[in-house]
Amino acid sequence: MTTPHAHEDDFIRFAEDDGQGALPSGVSPLRAWNILVVDDDEDVHQTTRFSLEGVQLFGRPLALLHATSAAQARDLLHTTRDVAVVLLDVVMETPDAGLGLVDHIRNTLQMMATRIVLRTGQPGYAPEHETLLRYDINDYKTKSELTHHKLLTAITTALRAYQQLCLIEASRRGLEQIVAASGELLRAAGIQRFASGVITQIAGILGTRPEGIVCARGQATGGYRVLAAAGQYAGLVGLPVERLQDQHVAALLEQALQSGQSVFTDHASVLFLGERQGDGMAAFVQSDARIQAMDVQLLRVFCTNLTACRNQLLTLERLHHVAYEDPMLKLPNRTRFIELLAQSLAHGDTNQALVLVDVDDFAGINDLMGHDYGDELLRAMAKRLAESAGSEVVLARVSGNAFGLLGPSDIVDPERILSFFVTPLQVAGKPHRVSVTLGACLLNDPGIDGVNWLKNASIALKQAKRDRRGRFVRFTPEMAQHARNRTQMLSELHAAFDHNHLYLAYQPQLDLRTGELIGLEALMRWRGHDGRMVPPDRFIPLAEQSGLIVGLGDWGLKTACLTMRELVQQGLAPRRMAVNVSVVQFQTPGFVERIQHALDTAGLRPDQLELEITESVSLLGHGVIETLLERLRAMGVSISIDDFGTGYSSLSYLERLPLDRIKIDKAFVTRMSAEGGPRIAELIAQLGQKLGLQVLAEGIEDAHAWRSLAAMGVHEGQGYHIARPLDVPELLEWLRQRPTDPRHYTQE
Ligand code: C2E
Ligand code: MG
Ligand code: MG
Repeated sequence: MTTPHAHEDDFIRFAEDDGQGALPSGVSPLRAWNILVVDDDEDVHQTTRFSLEGVQLFGRPLALLHATSAAQARDLLHTTRDVAVVLLDVVMETPDAGLGLVDHIRNTLQMMATRIVLRTGQPGYAPEHETLLRYDINDYKTKSELTHHKLLTAITTALRAYQQLCLIEASRRGLEQIVAASGELLRAAGIQRFASGVITQIAGILGTRPEGIVCARGQATGGYRVLAAAGQYAGLVGLPVERLQDQHVAALLEQALQSGQSVFTDHASVLFLGERQGDGMAAFVQSDARIQAMDVQLLRVFCTNLTACRNQLLTLERLHHVAYEDPMLKLPNRTRFIELLAQSLAHGDTNQALVLVDVDDFAGINDLMGHDYGDELLRAMAKRLAESAGSEVVLARVSGNAFGLLGPSDIVDPERILSFFVTPLQVAGKPHRVSVTLGACLLNDPGIDGVNWLKNASIALKQAKRDRRGRFVRFTPEMAQHARNRTQMLSELHAAFDHNHLYLAYQPQLDLRTGELIGLEALMRWRGHDGRMVPPDRFIPLAEQSGLIVGLGDWGLKTACLTMRELVQQGLAPRRMAVNVSVVQFQTPGFVERIQHALDTAGLRPDQLELEITESVSLLGHGVIETLLERLRAMGVSISIDDFGTGYSSLSYLERLPLDRIKIDKAFVTRMSAEGGPRIAELIAQLGQKLGLQVLAEGIEDAHAWRSLAAMGVHEGQGYHIARPLDVPELLEWLRQRPTDPRHYTQE
């Protein structure tokens, strides 16, 4: 500080020594402190002017502004806000005009940092202590007290307070900006967004246009690269710092990064954000006017906060990484894959393809070989896919045993991907031939988003797993329609079940030799709300896939048992009621108990019930199914194998399982009229006889079929030739009037 009286003043030296006034190198102090003198006495203006002439405080000169009334002062303050100190006369146009102005400054103009020194001619007009506090008035002096020395002391004290208040206010604003910025930046969760935010923030503090560069060490190369750029520098993103055209800017950035210190020059601020030299970010912002000392201080505060913010962001990015990466395979996970899909779609390239690769029977492999082996297999899969597909392709793990591939359609091609697995993988040091099934789609509809493309590929994969195991299915829009229809149908089925819109039809089963009625098969019926029948071949599989079959099957079982009791009571009942049971029902706990409960409720004997199961139950784990069937047989319930010959190929289960009857599928019965047609039916009949099982033929549609089957030794039959499945009133009618002479069925 330079004043003519500096050597006389202790407090002024103090001000110099505490470093508040020290300026960073290269910063030119030019801006003056605005001091407003408000007094209706022209002499006071004169004296003050004379007293303060040529004085510099804290490295800056003083600029005096003059007003001779409170009203004039208001006008002046309206345009000039950065007034550091107001030297204010209390009594002017009115006795409290000065205090009125104070109120205006604090409450209307909200100038909180501005320091106010009150001056009055008469001690009697001294404001109350409470008023001084309320308006945050710095000092109160009688005019006689304001000698040159005392005035200077008062102004220096006021300026110091002003400066600090400004700094606090500015850093509060800075912090507010940081909080707001980091809120936004955290949402964007990107250090890149943060970097461009930094430029805007610094420019905001300096009051300049956002023109600048932020650079940091690149992940791949290790050198410093431009991370974000704005204004005339936009377009430099990604460029190595040493290749910046503007050598001056490059040098400043490098200086900051290498020294780990911020650098300030007349027309630029370079903030170093980081903890150590060699590791951090540097933000260069250009300014039109010379940078002020206070701005430098503010930027330093800001810089510390930004460093903290940057560190938080880096931690977040790391967390982000964890949330988006499969930890075992170090591949993008499903969430990340969807993002990458979205990015690829945003580029508008319609020649990209998506393929899901699913390992067949992965659960089985895990059970058989252990989880470590399963993990090894997945690692080997990932390696094979990455190596064979090449670097243009994005590879991700989208579920436990499925991978996703995204890339140009000629590379991400299902045929080609299948060929990757012709050569066995190496798993745990041994060759492992893996079977995979693929679902594929071409990302040719820009209207579909990432999530839905993944859904589409899953639809294709599901179908492939059903019908093309070890191969692939390409997605078609009809498939999505089909999937939607199924979902729609399922919800309608739920509703129909809840509202008792399902019923059972019963189809008679006769002895082929005597024509005697021996049983009824209960078949489920659903009349949709448009009045049309929905065939069980459509809704039963849906119910099985969704698990609804458990409730549905229970209901069917109970209803069939109650109908049977009704028939018993009316003296019309055959020997048994046959009920179809899905393999899903078998797998639910308490199945046998529920059968017992249905029988008890209807008051039936167990030998009055038969369960029709399909060959697929033999695929359930060894031991499980035997135990269940043994228990049912022990109760007296009989068991038949439905649709025999259409399903599973191994016949060994026929010997293993405790069965009563096999039902020849109607397909073989229908085929009997063709040349060589009866062969299979005949073989099944013989097989049944050899195994000591009853044989029943389904789908007898004419007398010829009846005769042929009877001639083969098939014991029993059902079909349209005898009766269609009948609802209860039709059944009662049929039972009362049915033909008892077998010739009725054997003659054309
Ligand atoms: P399924 O158990 O093999 O039932 C015999 C099917 O053959 C019935 O079809 C029946 O209407 C039909 N049918 C009977 N006689 C003839 C004939 O002479 N010619 C022809 N072409 N067809 C004949 P439906 O009622 O459409 O049932 C289809 C399948 O749905 C059943 O085959 C069964 O697998 C399943 N299903 C029906 N009701 C139930 C049920 O309550 N529970 C379970 N789990 N499945 C059921
Ligand atoms: Mg059946
Ligand atoms: Mg059948």
